[in-house]
Amino acid sequence: MMLAQAGKPMGHTFTFLDPSPQACAFEYGDKIIAPYDDSHALETLAQACDIVTFEFENVPAQSVEILSKHVCIHPSANALRHAQNRLLEKNLFHQLNIPTNQFFAVASCEELHRACSQLGFPTVIKTVSQGYDGKGQFVVKNTNDIELAWEKLGQSPLIAEEYVPFDREISMIGARNPKGDVCFYSVCENIHREGILRQTKNTPHDAQTQKTQQYVKKIMEHFQYVGVLTLELFQRGNHLIANEIAPRVHNSGHWTIEGANTSQFENHLRAISGMPLGDTQDKGFSIMINCIGKIPNQIPSHANIHLHDYKKLPRPGRKMGHITIQAPTQKEVDSLVHPF
Ligand code: AMP
Repeated sequence: MMLAQAGKPMGHTFTFLDPSPQACAFEYGDKIIAPYDDSHALETLAQACDIVTFEFENVPAQSVEILSKHVCIHPSANALRHAQNRLLEKNLFHQLNIPTNQFFAVASCEELHRACSQLGFPTVIKTVSQGYDGKGQFVVKNTNDIELAWEKLGQSPLIAEEYVPFDREISMIGARNPKGDVCFYSVCENIHREGILRQTKNTPHDAQTQKTQQYVKKIMEHFQYVGVLTLELFQRGNHLIANEIAPRVHNSGHWTIEGANTSQFENHLRAISGMPLGDTQDKGFSIMINCIGKIPNQIPSHANIHLHDYKKLPRPGRKMGHITIQAPTQKEVDSLVHPF
């Protein structure tokens, strides 16, 4: 939906493939309601479009591969495949000399016991694939939890990783076009609860800017990547630990709609359509607050407060929309945050 909102003024038209008849993007273009691996639907999509992209990580990489034989598609199936598999992702960090936490692949309860004794408690257990917004995760606090974690998640391949007592979580969003031009947004500082992103703020001139940009650049160059890519990291003291990549526009970049000269959505479209990338300079300070489960009843009517209602059917834990507070100073932003 937000890609289409950015792309319509650029003169683009859209066709959306989504399994849900209620997909919020549908009001912005033509719709194809089908599973992501429906071969007829993929054929129809390829015929309808000059360029295809995706904004959801659980689209099968194989569908992206099939589409790539018939139509220009970005990002690549290879980049998506790495983001869908925590082992490939962590091995990539190692290969590119990007620091990450210690981890073990786990295929049996005995291996889980062994991993926990090596990593100590707490240990974080995650499914290797199909996990998002905290789903498919278990924090093992002591030996008694191990059997329970295995019972809950053991039917899928797992990864056991070191728990990071981080000072903060950050993300870096970059974009790369087919010419190899790159651009980056300011560091985003993120607050998660129960594995779900709750709040993001931009931190212009953050001390971690250069290092995080280098990491994202390395990843984008490795894949000859085209589009927007996000790297999420933990910070402890001065030490950065890469957690995961997202080969798409990212929730921690929604503030860029009002808060940067060019939004992440416009820059993704610019990148995939081979255009020069737009200026990513912040417009002052922004905080983005996710509306989880419902849109708050009383949102103050104020020139610096911007609501984006995705018009989704309410469900506990579902991201229903977001609110961005944007102002020239952090003080002004902070003074408007308290009702949320
Ligand atoms: P993920 O799906 O890996 O992005 O995890 C969701 C959230 O869970 C992260 O944003 C962190 O807040 C938390 N988390 C995940 N892995 C770890 C870890 N190894 N140590 C501490 N917290 C974690």
